[in-house]
Amino acid sequence: MKNLLFLSLLLSLNSYAASNYSKAQERIGRAVKGSSFLEEFILGLNDQGQKIKGVKFIGKGEDKDKVSHLVVAAHHGNETKSVELALQFIDYLRTTNGKDFNNIDLYVIPVLNIGGYDREDRHERDSKNKSHDPNRDYPDPCIVKKNFKLKSTELLASFVRARNITGAITVHGYYGSLTYPWGIYTDNYETLDHKVFEKKAKDAVLENNYIVGTHADILYPAGGAFEDWAYFELGVWSLLVELEDTPKYADDIKMLVSSIQSFPSKRSRDHRHTGSCERRKDAGISRP
Ligand SMILES: [Zn+2]
Repeated sequence: MKNLLFLSLLLSLNSYAASNYSKAQERIGRAVKGSSFLEEFILGLNDQGQKIKGVKFIGKGEDKDKVSHLVVAAHHGNETKSVELALQFIDYLRTTNGKDFNNIDLYVIPVLNIGGYDREDRHERDSKNKSHDPNRDYPDPCIVKKNFKLKSTELLASFVRARNITGAITVHGYYGSLTYPWGIYTDNYETLDHKVFEKKAKDAVLENNYIVGTHADILYPAGGAFEDWAYFELGVWSLLVELEDTPKYADDIKMLVSSIQSFPSKRSRDHRHTGSCERRKDAGISRP
């Protein structure tokens, strides 16, 4: 009897234990409280009806002169350190009064895949409880497939279009790299903007010494990833961070700041995929 009582007490305590996401939401709430230039926004409701929250940094300057950039973490729910970086970056914005950014509005979404983050699972479940890899859920120039099986990814894509996002950084783990398109299956991994991407990425990693290159060269090719979609469809300057196993968050924040400052003020004008979609047979299908 005693044991049973103890067990039921333990179970009830457990159901009250704060989830990973509720802790992240508390940190978001604390960061924006009383700030005149940070505000919470809601991307929308995911397949489970949970609010995907983000923080908007409102830069100094007239709206007509401003550009909008985006930082998104935890497409993959098990890459929990990506959330930590995003939350520390929001704190950095608050404590530095956003001094690094003029004429920039910045949107930070610390947890895109809420269910995955709470279970520390790479995948996210749709409304029918079926699991999907969120970073294979976007349109791809080389693969015909059903896209946007998840509400989270569809909401993010609509947001990028509607807010005219110019530069985007997604945060993953753990490889210690900063990469740029292409990551699709193609015979040539260099985009027409290759030199621009290469220069900016090299400048951004001076503090943390991450490896730079195309997603496909440094990691692996993959179909349906956000980073390639945002570039090929819209010309968004799209970067992917793979944090190190043991990140030095302060140095990684310097990389984010440098990347955001160096984004061009307009989207790429020629972001076509000009190669052939020949799939390299030796290439794996997964990347972190
Ligand atoms: Zn990932």
